[in-house]
Amino acid sequence: MISNIELANLIFPDVKETVEDLEKRYPLRNLKEGAEVTRFAPSPTGFLHTGSLFTSLICHKVAKQTGGVFYVRLEDTDTKREIEGSGEQLLSQLKIFGITPDEGYLGDSEKGNYGPYVQSKRADIYKVVIKYLLEIGRAYPCFCSSDDLAKIREKQEKAKILPGYYGQFAKCRFLNNDERKAKIEAGEPFVIRFKSSGNHIRKIKVHDLVHGDFEIAQNDQDIVIYKSDGLPTYHFAHVCDDHFMRTTTVIRGEEWIPSLPIHVELFETLGWKAPNYAHLPVIMKLDEQGHKRKLSKRLDSEAAVSYFLEDGYPPESLIMYLLTIANSNFEEWILANKFSNMYDFTFSFEKMSLEGALFDMGKVNFFAREIFAKYTKEEIYEKAKAYSEKYNKELLEVINRDPKYFMEIMNIERERENPRKDFEKFSSLISSIGFFYDDYYEASIKEGLSFNEKFDKEIIKQVLNKLKGLDLSLEEQEWFNQMKTFAEEEGFAPNGKIFKANPEAYKGTVGDVAEMLRIVLTGKKNSPNLYYVMKVLGKDTCLSRIDNMINKLL
Ligand code: GLU
Repeated sequence: MISNIELANLIFPDVKETVEDLEKRYPLRNLKEGAEVTRFAPSPTGFLHTGSLFTSLICHKVAKQTGGVFYVRLEDTDTKREIEGSGEQLLSQLKIFGITPDEGYLGDSEKGNYGPYVQSKRADIYKVVIKYLLEIGRAYPCFCSSDDLAKIREKQEKAKILPGYYGQFAKCRFLNNDERKAKIEAGEPFVIRFKSSGNHIRKIKVHDLVHGDFEIAQNDQDIVIYKSDGLPTYHFAHVCDDHFMRTTTVIRGEEWIPSLPIHVELFETLGWKAPNYAHLPVIMKLDEQGHKRKLSKRLDSEAAVSYFLEDGYPPESLIMYLLTIANSNFEEWILANKFSNMYDFTFSFEKMSLEGALFDMGKVNFFAREIFAKYTKEEIYEKAKAYSEKYNKELLEVINRDPKYFMEIMNIERERENPRKDFEKFSSLISSIGFFYDDYYEASIKEGLSFNEKFDKEIIKQVLNKLKGLDLSLEEQEWFNQMKTFAEEEGFAPNGKIFKANPEAYKGTVGDVAEMLRIVLTGKKNSPNLYYVMKVLGKDTCLSRIDNMINKLL
């Protein structure tokens, strides 16, 4: 009968390298004590998921704060699910969020001494290790068809036992090497399976940086490690790549915990030290019925980071929010640090909650408003332009009409200690500042204005006529005093207190007067500070809007 070595040579006649050669080609990294090597390993199967951004953020942070290396590896062994161009897109989106790898797959190129960083280009490496497993009798070719596998499953279901390809059910385990040789030479298609020595009745102890110590059933599945297309499966590629790329900490989603026993057994069999593992909690969402469920690519727009980009959120707002999920002390820290330098925050696995965090759009909005408030008018202009060029032609047209005017609008109540916090995303900019532009203003008042019904048209008209005399060259406080005087002259109380003391004596308060003016000038009941709105609109526009309204009300 042929030996394992002969069988391995029959399957991989061209593989001449050995595992030792690979060890030499990818030497241990020369890093300082405590430096972590982390990786983000996306599959090019579509858009960047918010959960993946979360994972990559933690990977990046852990490497940065320990003086280590963060690299990206493209896991493209599932060729059927691959979407053309998505690898490049993932990388460019990561960059927008400030997550740039030190090494690895960079989209259009790659960098580093541990490559290739795209799994489909690593077939030769996997073959060397699989050949070794064949030689030591810990892997074997499996010729089972999908029909054969279905029959095994059926049997197991009937007997109500653990499904899968293991133990006595692992049919091809029991072929001898001559039978294997004959089948291979007859051209029968095959995959290669790992030969497990475990038993799922037994438990193994594992340690996880987030979950601590726990026990989990040992692996006993003879998993496929090499597919008929010549590429490995995730499990095998993970073990090989993280070993030879010298990853110290594997940070990935919690959905991989059930596969951990497979990985542990593979590392042990190969005699390699397993990396540390950190399985991150999954981001959840409350559905309409109030049940927690995973944030879903299919159902939730916020599951794709592209949603935040297309809507014009500052990318930092999502990162800040994800850091609140990562560590509960982040929020307090960022408040104390006035929403700046978030990258200085020190992340720790111990402070990570095990509960899946509930996605909270309200918090993203909160951070977005804080971040927007910190931008200068020039920054706003640059960012709004970049955003609108890509996503919003209407906004671009508005900005381009007069960039200086746009900046003036955006500067209202900005350059001060407590700037106004009313913007969270560029996509809603036109609806908040449209009234500064005559065409949007006209369109918005077409439907009519909603003045307080307490006041009849004559009163409003009279008040407006009076307010035409407001002097915009005055300082804000003096201007407001003038408004109070005008209000009193029209029979309105100068403040709420005076009005309340003697409501019969007045038509209303100066607040009512200001509201009339605000509605006329902006078409809305709420706007930024009226004095500044008027200054930006300019005297002529204010007077013509007031006159138009008086004519309409007549
Ligand atoms: N390619 C795997 C995924 O996208 C990576 C998991 C891991 O980080 O190991 O889920």
